[in-house]
Amino acid sequence: MMSANQSLTRSQAIEQVLAQLDGPIAFNEFCQQVLNIWPSKAKNPVSSMRSHLRLDQAGRTLVFLDAQTILPLAIALHGVRFRIHLSRSEAKRGELIIRPAFDYFLRRELDPQAIQLLDRNGRPLAVRLGTIRTQADTPFGKETVEHTAFDLGDWFRAQRVRRDDYILVTIEDWIAGRFSLEHESSRRRRRTEIRQQDRELADLLFGMLETARNEEIYAHEAIPTAYARLADPHGYPGSHWTQVISRDERMKCDGWAIRYSDWRSPLESMLYREETLPEAAFSPAQGRQVYRFKAALGHRPELWRRVEIQGKQTLADLDTILRDAFNHDSSDHMGGFWKRIRRGKGKRFREIDIGDVNPLGGGSGTEVHIAGLGLEPGHELKYVYDFGDWIEHRLTLEEIVELEAKVKYPRTIAQNQPQYKNCQSCQDQGRETRATWICLECSTQQREIVVCKDCLFKDHGDHFAEKILY
Ligand SMILES: [Zn+2]
Ligand SMILES: [Zn+2]
Repeated sequence: MMSANQSLTRSQAIEQVLAQLDGPIAFNEFCQQVLNIWPSKAKNPVSSMRSHLRLDQAGRTLVFLDAQTILPLAIALHGVRFRIHLSRSEAKRGELIIRPAFDYFLRRELDPQAIQLLDRNGRPLAVRLGTIRTQADTPFGKETVEHTAFDLGDWFRAQRVRRDDYILVTIEDWIAGRFSLEHESSRRRRRTEIRQQDRELADLLFGMLETARNEEIYAHEAIPTAYARLADPHGYPGSHWTQVISRDERMKCDGWAIRYSDWRSPLESMLYREETLPEAAFSPAQGRQVYRFKAALGHRPELWRRVEIQGKQTLADLDTILRDAFNHDSSDHMGGFWKRIRRGKGKRFREIDIGDVNPLGGGSGTEVHIAGLGLEPGHELKYVYDFGDWIEHRLTLEEIVELEAKVKYPRTIAQNQPQYKNCQSCQDQGRETRATWICLECSTQQREIVVCKDCLFKDHGDHFAEKILY
């Protein structure tokens, strides 16, 4: 049993417990061991330790093998192999640029001068650090960028390294910063194995993104975690993770965070707000096809309409038919559409803005075609009428069917079974008439005042009233 030591900092306590591990440990057990030597003053020490480990230590000192199991980062990365693709200038000049090649495989606190490189037989290579300047295209023209690089000229020449060749790196000691290098000519690389590794890494990263609460994951945590979760992280290495992500259509990385490929920064959203989003190409035949949606009111899903619209028609046409079907004003308030995309296999969705429609003309979605949205049966849209009152509707694409002759699209073809109410004024006089209006001024939270058209004029002449949606 270790005794509590007041002079330890929390980070030192975590480091000390991590250093004694030789494999995975249950998360709760680890928290307890740290708290044993670093008594916390927090109200709830266990939960405060848990969140510190999750938010601040994951990817820095440890990784989560799964939600309940952690592994010290030094063990997780020991023996991990990764691949660096050499550029023409690197091969020519005998230099190996450190970033992003070594990103998230180097300990953050490590001084680059301390990095040791070995050849495949374990013999140390002479490492000199240098600075390379390259020209990069930026929105403001050409700019000079400085990179820190290993000067490996002698070794490259001995190995006859050429452009497009690879350096295979093995992490020998993550704490000390010791790596061994192996040269592989581009002709000898094993493409099938690389492809398999790439797919496994891509699926691991995308799976983590799908379960991330905020629709983004941080590379410093995600990269070591994904490597630790590979079936064989010590085996023949796949492509570099930056290439794996950039080739994957589902996600993108800006160097810090990995996000869905259609993610836009707040600045991008602002700049492109009025621009029509890129549409998927569709054939004239697809343009003629009919998309059958079931549209339900968000707060009262028992009120639904089935509408049909052609592929070549637009979000403006869909907005028009939905306003008509749900008794919304056809000449006032904005309408807006979002695509709802399921995240993982659960019930969580993310939403992508696909455009607004102004009923008086204009809006970013006015010219977006239904067939260009890439929808398949089962896919969902969200429609909001009136950005002030924010009335949400959920649209589910039920079917894509062929065009019917002599039919004018869009159209409403079905609706829920209406639960009609009787006019209360008529009822008071012993008559039974269907109520078609609700007086919003006379209604209270407890009691709705619903009347027929005649009684509305008679009894609520200048009151604010709304047509009842059945
Ligand atoms: Zn009446
Ligand atoms: Zn009234």
